Amino acid sequence: MPDCIFCSIVSGEIPANIVLRTAEVVAFTDLDPKAPTHILVIPTEHHENAASLAVANPIQAAAVLAATEQVATESGLSDYRIVFNTGAEAGQSVFHAHAHVLGGRDLGWPPG
Ligand code: AMP
Repeated sequence: MPDCIFCSIVSGEIPANIVLRTAEVVAFTDLDPKAPTHILVIPTEHHENAASLAVANPIQAAAVLAATEQVATESGLSDYRIVFNTGAEAGQSVFHAHAHVLGGRDLGWPPG
């Protein structure tokens, strides 16, 4: 998708600190971390949000979820939060589906 920053990370046009790459997903550290560990897991296909990804490509949606566990474990996390912001009012700023994997501190509940 032209002008999609996460598509540019998938293609390698924009650099990122990539921690996992498969045919289905790319995972990289967030530029502006909200926790000691903050990794984004994105599908290699462009879909606007997690729900539209799940409808269009359930295999890739499952791969995103499985990768969250892999990157969390490889980062030494046993407790972590997975967040899929959906829509601007919910905090979504990049409209390419992505899971935030957050951990390394007490995250509290409910979120603010
Ligand atoms: P959201 O606000 O849920 O759409 O999340 C988008 C996330 O992408 C934010 O946490 C940003 O800090 C992060 N982000 C934006 N551009 C980059 C980039 N080039 N590399 C890594 N993380 C990024």
